[in-house]
Amino acid sequence: MKSIILIAPPAAGKGTQAKVISKMYNIPTISTGALLRKEIDEEGPFHDEIVNEMKLGHLIKDEITIKLLLDRMKEKDCELGYILDGFPRNLKQAKVYDEILASKGKNIDYVFVLDAPYEMLEDRIEGRLSCPGCGHIYNSRFEDHRPKNEGICDDCNSSLVKREDDNSETYNKRFKTYERITKPLIAFYENKKILHHINSSINKDVTFKQIKNILDGGSNEH
Ligand code: AMP
Repeated sequence: MKSIILIAPPAAGKGTQAKVISKMYNIPTISTGALLRKEIDEEGPFHDEIVNEMKLGHLIKDEITIKLLLDRMKEKDCELGYILDGFPRNLKQAKVYDEILASKGKNIDYVFVLDAPYEMLEDRIEGRLSCPGCGHIYNSRFEDHRPKNEGICDDCNSSLVKREDDNSETYNKRFKTYERITKPLIAFYENKKILHHINSSINKDVTFKQIKNILDGGSNEH
């Protein structure tokens, strides 16, 4: 069982790293952001409660997010482990998640915090394009992050989209929310001695190398 949590400010590379880890270690990624976006697209029962909140960059009620997460965790492909991208987002979610795992006799193996400076992240957000099909993230601003064919995912051929919350104004709000509400999780997991800081400011390969080193039993020196 490999149970991994990725914590990072928005646009720090959580989705990208989750995808690479998932492929290499053959475990799925559960992105609560993606689950919530799916709920909106498919007009699920929580659609009305979340659609505007997400556009504004606000966090969605814990009860809704946890319900969607629990449903996804029950699926067969999660039996050998999974990567959580975007959850927990606050201390209450972290504590509830601990209780859920304890009730199943399981625990968290690794928590990675992706560190990158605000200016760099704000710069990334405007050019960001996401694949709604497989979660691959591209960036039109950076040569090595563009899709081979404009607007089309290299991996699954879906049409790429610009997320409604990927703009500077909403980004600033989401970043502040991260600082105020999500960052306290770092101390929470540091105390449990399962947290690793990863430098996410160089490029995605260097970021992954550090993560892989730890997952393969080394240290996070690079
Ligand atoms: P993300 O895809 O992780 O950038 O999340 C996009 C948006 O989904 C966030 O700005 C929140 O509105 C919502 N969201 C994602 N994960 C959570 C969570 N764990 N708790 C509450 N809201 C969330």
